[in-house]
Amino acid sequence: MHTDLVAALDIGGTKIAGALVDGHGRILLRGQRATPAQEDGDTVMGAVHDVLGELRVSPLWARARAVGIGSAGPVDASTGTVSPVNVPGWRDYPLVRGVRAVAGELPVELIGDGVAITAAEHWQGAARGHDNALCMVVSTGVGGGLVLGGRLHSGPTGNAGHIGHISVDLDGDPCPCGSRGCVERIASGPNIARRALEGGWQPGPDGDTSAAAVAAAARAGDPVAVASFERAAQALAAGIAATATLVEIDIAVIGGGVGKAGDVLFTPLRRALADYATLSFVRRLTVTPALMGTDAGLVGAAAAALRHRDNTPTAGVVT
Ligand SMILES: [Zn+2]
Repeated sequence: MHTDLVAALDIGGTKIAGALVDGHGRILLRGQRATPAQEDGDTVMGAVHDVLGELRVSPLWARARAVGIGSAGPVDASTGTVSPVNVPGWRDYPLVRGVRAVAGELPVELIGDGVAITAAEHWQGAARGHDNALCMVVSTGVGGGLVLGGRLHSGPTGNAGHIGHISVDLDGDPCPCGSRGCVERIASGPNIARRALEGGWQPGPDGDTSAAAVAAAARAGDPVAVASFERAAQALAAGIAATATLVEIDIAVIGGGVGKAGDVLFTPLRRALADYATLSFVRRLTVTPALMGTDAGLVGAAAAALRHRDNTPTAGVVT
């Protein structure tokens, strides 16, 4: 049998998506369940098995050569366990073992969701053709991943590139991670909204207090909304500049809901980057919106599973 497909799983706090994906990143079959995030760990695993079950009933399953998993983190690829912040029933949960139980002999690859998004953007999206890139997801949290020397750099446990928890404000607000002044504490969607509300921004008649509503207000010229996005942009710029200075990336790709804010984010971000990325070797650094849509996590997980193929940019690199 021709094994030209891989199975991909994208596991988050809201949904568990699965797919069979070909070597060009095309999704041939999908499955999905809501994540029973407040249930016990084995119930959550049952939802993963349900998604895999939807894929396994297809004759296409016989063509799958591996399973790739991108999971909300932290993950530990070295042990095959995950502890997603938003899934309390999973703490050091043996996700890889649970997937193996239904995937038979297929090899299983686990990476964090930020690394998965990065794999997808490098393979098919905005970081394509870039050998040294930082890809970020800025939404409820701030995650990320790195491509270095043309290869996905996931690190020993699969968490490398976790830019959301770099401190950019030494005496800043405590972050749930235990540190202070993290990029995420300043630039995530909920923190953009919180800062706008604290500054006196008033939501519209619909009462929407999301970061997207703050972005709409910023586009309309509301100075408090503009200032909240400028502060987020400043934090992102400082984190991106630090990353570029350490490892010489030449592009930073920003996705997630906040990444869709457009010019109210990217204009102050590019301005702030000029303030922080000052050395000769980082001055050409560009920032750009992500190109991959909602399937980025699945496509990135597929890239991880395809690692033994020679014709993908991420070949042989996800450890
Ligand atoms: Zn933090």
